[in-house]
Amino acid sequence: MMEDVLVVGAGPAGSMASRILAEQGYSVTCFEKGPLIREKPCGGGIPEIALREFSINFTKGKPVYGVRLCSPHNNIIDLSQPSRAGISAYRADFDYYLMQEAQKAGACIKENLAASPLIEEGTLKGVKAGEHVYRAPLVIICDGALCSFARKMGLYVGGDDNQAAAFQYQMNLKDSLVEERIGGVLEMYFGNQWVPRGYTWVFPKHGGITVGNATWLSIMKAQKVTLKPLLDKFIQQHPVARKTLEGAEIVYSQSHLLAFPGIVKSVYGDHFLIAGDAGGFTSYATGGGLYYALTSGKIAGEVAAEALKKRDFSKRFLKAYERRVNMKIGADMKWGRVMRRLFLNKDIGQELLVKSIEKNSWVREQAVLLLKEEIRYDAFLLSLLLHLHRVIQSIVP
Ligand SMILES: Cc1cc2nc3c(=O)[nH]c(=O)nc-3n(C[C@H](O)[C@H](O)[C@H](O)COP(=O)(O)OP(=O)(O)OC[C@H]3O[C@@H](n4cnc5c(N)ncnc54)[C@H](O)[C@@H]3O)c2cc1C
Repeated sequence: MMEDVLVVGAGPAGSMASRILAEQGYSVTCFEKGPLIREKPCGGGIPEIALREFSINFTKGKPVYGVRLCSPHNNIIDLSQPSRAGISAYRADFDYYLMQEAQKAGACIKENLAASPLIEEGTLKGVKAGEHVYRAPLVIICDGALCSFARKMGLYVGGDDNQAAAFQYQMNLKDSLVEERIGGVLEMYFGNQWVPRGYTWVFPKHGGITVGNATWLSIMKAQKVTLKPLLDKFIQQHPVARKTLEGAEIVYSQSHLLAFPGIVKSVYGDHFLIAGDAGGFTSYATGGGLYYALTSGKIAGEVAAEALKKRDFSKRFLKAYERRVNMKIGADMKWGRVMRRLFLNKDIGQELLVKSIEKNSWVREQAVLLLKEEIRYDAFLLSLLLHLHRVIQSIVP
């Protein structure tokens, strides 16, 4: 069977790449190892800019108006505002919507069918899936943070410093209580006692709450910690969050990896492109990856369409993908890491960050834009550093 392009994985990156190619009239088959309706472990916080930029008319999410940050010393800063900043959604619903959009455009999505590389004479020729071999001049790899396809191609170079683990509970809570206790904000709790070098999130949903935590594999190994007991302690003991979560019932737990820049040797090569988590396109600062998955998936689809027009699937031609992804989100990948190192790893930095936002209205405005993903990390860091001396003056007696 010969297609124009094969896509591996029908998460947001894979569905977006498939949709873009199908809209341009190319034949695309996308392989999804799970069922089409499945809940990918995720907080489900989707920024407004992602919905706007990709014309996503998804209506099932809970509208959110901003973020509430809780510092290690329980200083709380509310960054919500009147206009919608995004949505909080169950990934089963959101991903299925994106898959349907790709199908409407003409992409074929095959569910419950895992794909692995078909390599002949040292070159990727397509994929093997079930009993069959599927051939195409180009494969877009979007199989998520576990990077199974890249591992089989010898491209995976992940280590403990560019991977994090996450654990979360989906909890039931009556809508009226969700509204009363959290409303339409995404809550982020800092403090190394709750989870070292990471953070804990409490995100409202229709009919429930998602609560989870994440940190680096290197920290889990060095400090010999596991996430579930830390999350249980947080739910029972956190002086602020325990009141929000009181009476909420755990429906199920989930865990997954997060993959950061540098997880694979290269995100392009002869006959392939890698998009989304599989390429390490995740923010070092927040762990958020949905906007980057959609962005890299879209650019992969566009570059693939150009390669098909030119009939050039060489590494040299496909390098345009890396260049364009870097232009669009490269600064976030780089400066998100700086932000983490400066402000997010230690309690003192987290406290300073929350205080800076609280004490300075300009920094606050920038933080709102950053959390809506409407300005980039480099602009935010600059504004923070320019105003930091005033903040330090106001908090040092
Ligand atoms: C606990 C947790 C919470 C998070 N919360 C947020 C958040 O609130 N906001 C945010 O922006 N980001 C969040 N993220 C990150 C976000 O989930 C990812 O960035 C996003 O899912 C990446 O999309 P993707 O399409 O690249 O990969 P995925 O969504 O992982 O999709 C990959 C797909 O490929 C399929 N697959 C895997 N291997 C194969 C194979 N061999 N053959 C066929 N199919 C295969 C998988 O089944 C899956 O459906 C969170 C991550 C975690 C772990």
